[in-house]
Amino acid sequence: MHRTRRAKIVATLGPASAEPDTIARLFEAGADVFRLNFSHGEPADHATRVAVLRELEAGSGRPIGILADLQGPKLRVGRFEAGAVTLEPGQAFRLDLDPAPGDARRANLPHPEIFAALVEGTELLLDDGKLRLVVQRCDARSADTRVAVGGRLSDRKGVNVPNVVLPISALTPKDRRDLDTALSLGVDWIALSFVQRPEDVHEARSLIGGRAGIVAKLEKPAAIERLDEILAAADAAMVARGDLGVELPAERVPALQKRIVRGCRRLGKPVIVATQMLESMIEQPVPTRAEASDVATAIYDGADAVMLSAESAAGRHPVAAVAMMDRIIAGTESDPLYRQLLEAAHSPAVAGQADAAQAVCCAMRRAAGLVRAAAIVCHTSSGHTSLRAARERPDAPILSLTPSRTAARRLTLAWGVHSVHLDDVPQASQMTELACEWARREGLARQGEPLVMIAGLPFGESGSTNLLRIAVA
Ligand code: PGA
Ligand code: MN
Repeated sequence: MHRTRRAKIVATLGPASAEPDTIARLFEAGADVFRLNFSHGEPADHATRVAVLRELEAGSGRPIGILADLQGPKLRVGRFEAGAVTLEPGQAFRLDLDPAPGDARRANLPHPEIFAALVEGTELLLDDGKLRLVVQRCDARSADTRVAVGGRLSDRKGVNVPNVVLPISALTPKDRRDLDTALSLGVDWIALSFVQRPEDVHEARSLIGGRAGIVAKLEKPAAIERLDEILAAADAAMVARGDLGVELPAERVPALQKRIVRGCRRLGKPVIVATQMLESMIEQPVPTRAEASDVATAIYDGADAVMLSAESAAGRHPVAAVAMMDRIIAGTESDPLYRQLLEAAHSPAVAGQADAAQAVCCAMRRAAGLVRAAAIVCHTSSGHTSLRAARERPDAPILSLTPSRTAARRLTLAWGVHSVHLDDVPQASQMTELACEWARREGLARQGEPLVMIAGLPFGESGSTNLLRIAVA
């Protein structure tokens, strides 16, 4: 089985997609990577889902990517005596460390680090930005605020502090436990929420090692200020538009989306555009035209993947949402303008700054176009060669062959990559034969059609891409 589209689909699992049969249908409808959202559910729920996915993988013979999304330091107010209060504009409202239930005058905010970082004039956004408080005075245990935008505030609603770099790690104690769970389940990607600094990614890397790739979720203004360093530190990125659009005005999200996608494409690191893509399909069987257009925009920008959150996790039409996304992607990729836009946003390697891998991949792209290659075949051990090939956004599909199961699974997120796991480490002398055989077997080339093959020799040395060969299937 192979899919003909280039961009990938990430589908979040949840109560609406708990049944093994539903998960199988999501996969058949087009989900390439499944997201486990550690903001919800118990470790046992995630373990069950991983088991179902690995069984599906074994049955289909196709690698499946699993992304564990850690909750991160999502700040929340405590509970209220009456479950909720209504705050009036202009009124005083206190936040403090007292765990007692709140009322119309005060609420618990159980995060001492925040009080340390607040100053007079700092804005706090509550419940996805619906309410707004301005700090008047603050000490180590409490903050007196004035309500700038009022409304109803209920138990455990989220708090965003957009314009302050909070002195907190991107990994809470819960995240560290969830990370252990996720790694022991053998997930392929770990997503870090509310990354603020490159150090947050380094810290996660020191815990994860090489066991999973790291996706930096970009949802804080502070992260945007250090975007280049964060992208350099991570293995992939997510445009997390939900929180990004709370922490920053909504009108800034489109430009940032383009900037992040372009930054990742330049580095050859996978980038996911996420949140509210087909939001109305949580209830309705069809999306709005605006949503269809939003998915298409991400595809025209050359994003590696688009993501479904509540649509597939908690909505009424999880399978239809994936199928719809699949059709929008296919429709967009078949538009002649698509190629043109993809190329316009391509950053070519710079003379004098390119390494051998970049030079080989540049040549691969040109050669594949000239011989009208049916496919580009990458032999890769770490996945590096295939990611470099994807960076070129070539016309022909990329068939990635690797003896590493981990690499094969991780590559399911990458643009244009049809990932295959080989049972054995290939000998250099077998590489061409294997490339031709697999291209035919996977339906990517017919006998006699040209292929462009790239690889790194000696095999197994990551980052050694140095070989290009034109072969005939
Ligand atoms: P979340 O992240 O769904 O985990 O909050 C995505 C986003 O903020 O857009
Ligand atoms: Mn978020």
